[in-house]
Amino acid sequence: MAQEPAPDSDMAESRQWAIKKVAGGLMIAAAVLVILVTVLYDVRGEPYPPLTRRLNYVLCPIVAASGVFLLRTRRRLPIWLANSIPSIAAILICLPTSASQRVDELGPLLLTWPVAFAAAVLSARVAWITAGVAAVAFAVLAELSRGVDGLVLWIETAASLAVVCWMVVRVQNESLRLRGALARLARTDPLTGLVNRRGFDEALAREQARRRRGGPPSALLLVDIDHFKRVNDTWGHQAGDETLRLLGVLLDTSFRATDVVGRIGGEEFAVLLADFDPDEAAERAQALCDRVRTQASGWEHPITVSVGVGTSLKYAPTPAELMASADAALYAAKAAGRDRVWIEPAQAE
Ligand code: GH3
Ligand code: MG
Ligand code: MG
Repeated sequence: MAQEPAPDSDMAESRQWAIKKVAGGLMIAAAVLVILVTVLYDVRGEPYPPLTRRLNYVLCPIVAASGVFLLRTRRRLPIWLANSIPSIAAILICLPTSASQRVDELGPLLLTWPVAFAAAVLSARVAWITAGVAAVAFAVLAELSRGVDGLVLWIETAASLAVVCWMVVRVQNESLRLRGALARLARTDPLTGLVNRRGFDEALAREQARRRRGGPPSALLLVDIDHFKRVNDTWGHQAGDETLRLLGVLLDTSFRATDVVGRIGGEEFAVLLADFDPDEAAERAQALCDRVRTQASGWEHPITVSVGVGTSLKYAPTPAELMASADAALYAAKAAGRDRVWIEPAQAE
């Protein structure tokens, strides 16, 4: 059986982007918020523990500057660092209040920020670890507190963190599941279940990148049903569809798991053979052509196919170049009488 389309290769890149943008934005927002609250206390002349006040004025600019750095940097963030950011944030949020030893001065809602961030952008595991770290930091704060019933506050806070974590993780899991299903649907031909043109083009692009890195040559087979219009015209569109489905199964079971088989047009299929030289590719194409003729002779509406072969022997052709050479070969196979294989001579040398 041929392989499924590979997962979206842009995923890692878009995740990096989200981690940096969301973390940077949240850090700046939290720093501005805490500074505003501290200034408000100052303006109103309300009693505010001096050490907490000083720590707020020192830590907030550092956190904001780190946020700006994250927003602007083009460097990749190591995953261990990204995973540590929410736990560090939870500890930093508790730090100034620990100096005042008054747990009720910390808005525990702020602790939900790193937990929600971890659940939405990192992973469920990191989210639960962050919730745990935040709960422990808050417990230390409650323990240090004087004259406040820290236990009740801690229970409320820990429970809220757990609920936020669970809900965001759940929504995130569902969205990942839907995204995967959508990506599969967008790359699958509904009639045959094979990769469609979009999925096949992505496979060709991956193949070109592999070839550029010095990977072995590959071959592209374009398979077109001969006089397929007659099947439709004689037996109807449904019979044509059934024939396409049968050919899809035959193709899918004729190649290795590392090869990619797709339906890239109406009655046109394509096979990307990884690690094949032109002679081997021509042999495989001939074997396929023979197999279709033999097996389809037993179908209700027999067919034959013509196969054009393009290869990436000498260099790493672009997907369009590889497709064009296989297409020229297919055209030649048709012109030479159909039910045969043609290999682009320019490529085969
Ligand atoms: P050739 O040997 O030159 O390839 O001749 P052909 O008749 O196969 O090629 P042509 O391009 O003239 O006709 C292709 C036909 O394929 C026309 C179209 O109705 C049919 N077709 C395309 N997509 C589908 C489909 O999804 N289902 C069915 N039943 N027919 C389709
Ligand atoms: Mg045809
Ligand atoms: Mg055609």
